[in-house]
Amino acid sequence: MARPSRVVIDRNALKHNFSRVKQLAPNSKVMAVIKADAYGHGIERVAKTLDEADAFGVAMLDEARQLREAGIKQRIVLLEGPHRADELTDIQSLNLEPVIHHQSQLDMLESNNNLNDLQVWLKFDTGMHRLGFLPEEFESVWQRIQNCGAVNNTPRLMTHLATANEAEHPLTQKQLDCFESITQELNLEKTIANSAATLTLNNTHVDWVRPGLMLYGVSPLLNADANEHNLKPVMTLESALIAVKNLKAGESVGYGAKWSCPEDMQIGIVAAGYGDGFPRHAKTGTPILVNEQRCELIGRASMDMLCVDLRKVNNAQVGDTVTLWGKGLPIEEVAASADTIPYELLCGVHKRLEFVEVV
Ligand SMILES: *Cc1c(COP(=O)(O)O)cnc(C)c1O
Repeated sequence: MARPSRVVIDRNALKHNFSRVKQLAPNSKVMAVIKADAYGHGIERVAKTLDEADAFGVAMLDEARQLREAGIKQRIVLLEGPHRADELTDIQSLNLEPVIHHQSQLDMLESNNNLNDLQVWLKFDTGMHRLGFLPEEFESVWQRIQNCGAVNNTPRLMTHLATANEAEHPLTQKQLDCFESITQELNLEKTIANSAATLTLNNTHVDWVRPGLMLYGVSPLLNADANEHNLKPVMTLESALIAVKNLKAGESVGYGAKWSCPEDMQIGIVAAGYGDGFPRHAKTGTPILVNEQRCELIGRASMDMLCVDLRKVNNAQVGDTVTLWGKGLPIEEVAASADTIPYELLCGVHKRLEFVEVV
């Protein structure tokens, strides 16, 4: 038997979630964010499925090149812009749109005489304090852009929110006010919203929304579940029981003998572990489905295997299907139980797994 662990990608769910973005922000164009291999889902597969996206957002040139080589025609935005001056040649020839967030990138643009008419996205730091020009740099940046032969004179304007996933966080309004004060006079296209803002802050939708996580059917909101927003999980991480055994009260399970049976009981061994991307920090009690019945992780996951408590499962057998997250088991819950966030789990799915598409 081939090792049963696999990643199932539901392309219909992806299309459904995209249509939810359109419902929520009907007057905005959509930049689908597909960095980090489309949050672990496969960048080409996701780009081809989301053929209605107006643009794709990626983090680096190689991702953009892969998309162009796969025949993707939409706009592609490099969310961190050029990392080195020599990337600009490819940026022009592949028709990419870099975010420009730092003076050093303006220097690169100004010192390159072979560029013309690049579409750039100027990013402002309105309070997240990661990438972007500070508000007080605006005048000088604007002058340099207007005088720069490499770029066209209609840059798009963007900012990124630090706390959109927390309802009523005061920083959000502060950032919105700051962005408004910098950009209100300029009749240029603007973008603010990530998934959290697309879901909950209509006033941030403006010309373009930039959803990532919600496209994959996962909620970025604190204490929220994706169902509530009518999002459907795209990725299901599946495996199977490869052993079932009956142990006596007091017998320990796994490395370090950290966990012991509180009573005579049945446990199952699942062919998935941290070598596949299941978090080693998941705590005992992390939910797992065996034959769609909810049970619990016991002890720490090992590299290729983990153990489940089968006391709540009827008639478990070797070969039974196990769901680690996805359909029937929200990844938000698994992430919370491992002190992490769904983003990290999705990106961490290992490429050694078989990927299977269902349509
Ligand atoms: C990753 C990213 C997004 C998407 O964020 P989600 O929380 O996944 O929706 C949007 N904008 C920028 C600049 C990003 O880096």
